[in-house]
Amino acid sequence: MRPEALNPLFAEAESLEGVGPKVMKPLEKLGLTRVKDLAYHLPERFVSRHAIADLDAGSEGEQVIIALTPIEHRAPRAGSRGPYRVLAQDAAGNICALTWFGKAAYAAKKLLPVGEQRWIAGRLDRYGDMLQIVHPDHIEVDSAANMGRLSEPVYRLSEGLTQPKVAGLTEQALARLPELPEWIEPGQLAKAGWPAWRDALRLGHETTDEKVRDRLAYDELLANSLALLLVKAEGRRRKGQALAGDGVLCAKLQMPFALTGAQTRSIAEIEGDMAQEAPMLRLLQGDVGAGKTVVALNAMLIAVEAGKQAAMLAPTEILARQHFETLRKMLAPTGVEVALLTGRAKGRERESILMGLMDGSIQILVGTHAIFQDTVNYRDLGLVVIDEQHRFGVAQRLSLAAKGRRAPHTLAMTATPIPRSLTLAQYGEMDVSRLDELPPGRQAIDTRVVGQDRMEEVVAGVERHLASGQQAYWVCPMVREIDGVPDLADIAAAEARYAALKERFGDAVVLVHGQLRPEIKDAGMERFASGQARLLVATTVIEVGVDVPAATLMVIEQAERFGLAQLHQLRGRVGRGAEKSTCLLLRGSGLSETGRARLALMRETQDGFRIAEEDLELRGGGELLGTRQSGEAAFRIASLEQMQKLLPVAHGDARLLMERDGGLTSPRGEAARLLLYLFERDWGVQLLRGG
Ligand code: ADP
Ligand code: MG
Repeated sequence: MRPEALNPLFAEAESLEGVGPKVMKPLEKLGLTRVKDLAYHLPERFVSRHAIADLDAGSEGEQVIIALTPIEHRAPRAGSRGPYRVLAQDAAGNICALTWFGKAAYAAKKLLPVGEQRWIAGRLDRYGDMLQIVHPDHIEVDSAANMGRLSEPVYRLSEGLTQPKVAGLTEQALARLPELPEWIEPGQLAKAGWPAWRDALRLGHETTDEKVRDRLAYDELLANSLALLLVKAEGRRRKGQALAGDGVLCAKLQMPFALTGAQTRSIAEIEGDMAQEAPMLRLLQGDVGAGKTVVALNAMLIAVEAGKQAAMLAPTEILARQHFETLRKMLAPTGVEVALLTGRAKGRERESILMGLMDGSIQILVGTHAIFQDTVNYRDLGLVVIDEQHRFGVAQRLSLAAKGRRAPHTLAMTATPIPRSLTLAQYGEMDVSRLDELPPGRQAIDTRVVGQDRMEEVVAGVERHLASGQQAYWVCPMVREIDGVPDLADIAAAEARYAALKERFGDAVVLVHGQLRPEIKDAGMERFASGQARLLVATTVIEVGVDVPAATLMVIEQAERFGLAQLHQLRGRVGRGAEKSTCLLLRGSGLSETGRARLALMRETQDGFRIAEEDLELRGGGELLGTRQSGEAAFRIASLEQMQKLLPVAHGDARLLMERDGGLTSPRGEAARLLLYLFERDWGVQLLRGG
């Protein structure tokens, strides 16, 4: 049960004034469902604006306040995705456009009656020959005095929210912050010059002061380390089972290749762990295409040889299916029973799988998170394999581990190259095996950076490629076309590109993205994997694990919008067969210095670990992180930079606290419990109670 002191923080966001279902939806999209989430929704930056008398005094990119009089409303044609525009006139008779995309336009209709002057605050952009303000931050009837502070916070938004709305909500949330006991030692706090928790949160909305942000980031890192250490302590308490295989099944495997040295070594390490009674907690790290699947398969066969079951968890439906097919083929000569369980298995099919797991006739199960459900019971689960580990939280990992009568061994796998300095935060103190050797015969992928304006040439290149009988991927980004309106153009971009390419290539093109119905998505994927479709247009759903060796060309549109780790993953989809592969990174115009350097790095190397390390260097200076946006890391507050700086400190402090007070019963331990709840790592605390 959550400590009472935290109740005001965990109150639903709906309890704030001005939050109805309409506002709740976009808030949920940002993960802001509780009062505490809003308090921690820190501004991304601050803008300072100045008032201008007329448009001639302003220039593109400037944040301004200006009096304008609407002269005409232009709604988009029915059914079109176009924006809603209001043309407005300044005192000197210059005209500019006020522009809204999506549902936000409803507000515009009411707030801007034709002929009545309004004060508008926002950023001047260019629209053809005139200036425009997209999604003005403020619209007021009165004077500029009501336009908010001249320096004001800029929050991350989603469609349906405005800056003033979010600012108002965070203000209410901050007013409700209770006083909490301090979990950082007073001496340490003073030495670092950090504010107390409540002050830090309030200041966090007013400045980007380093000490303030550091204090808040430290809290998050401390909570994470503490929770991981609690899990580890619990793992030591739980008994596992020593499993040894006799090698009979492994010898029968249908393997079209010899294992690499790194694969053999990793399998030996896993075998060694599984032979111990203490449950294995091992991470298999290996670049895309390094051959992790077959290592996992060998581990699972050890469990089966020892008379136990093994379960393999994949992050997506597509990947689960693919693993299932791969395993089924390789396992054919062994007679081992393998089944697939995803959220879509219903009725009789599902029943029969559940029965098979319970009576032990199914020896290996592959699936998505559906294999976590309470209704899924194993006769004797000996090993859990988790593919693409970073996609799952530790909580899920635990709930699966809790399935066995005794703790099963756990093998986590990841292709995400994480800088060494950060592995601790992601994986706690797991043992690590590295597949640092690619299977033989792989050719380097020819990577080129091409201006997006050379689209015609690129398409012609794709045409030649398809004509030669090979296949290709075409990836579109999760576009954030307009500041503050995420994913508006996301699907539109992939769909529009698909439509254009379909005109050229007809039925050879297939479209797959995350918002299609799963059956349709899978059918599309299958058409491509079977070679029926030659060109796959997709969003990042193909990022993880998809394996089509005949696809040898990868086009990535607006490559600068992806994180480097993501680009690396995407590129890893090609270069899987013996053919020479090519990756075209299309870049938009107006790329920053850093942006150029990042793409150049992609061209230069294919070493995922090097890419990760250098990306970290390149980003430097307080830029907000890719990992956070893509939800890879479970950190909402701490930036990569802060993690590097503060994680060793936080981890050391957590360890010290655990040594002194492993039950978290001292006053500081009690305070730390609050912290664990605050950052939703209370699974750590729940273990304490169970133990
Ligand atoms: P990942 O590590 O990205 O999960 P996979 O397990 O999907 O990689 O393997 C990538 C490809 O390499 C597969 O087609 C697989 O059959 C092949 N492969 C794996 N190990 C070897 C090996 N030792 N020799 C040759 N090919 C291999
Ligand atoms: Mg894989």
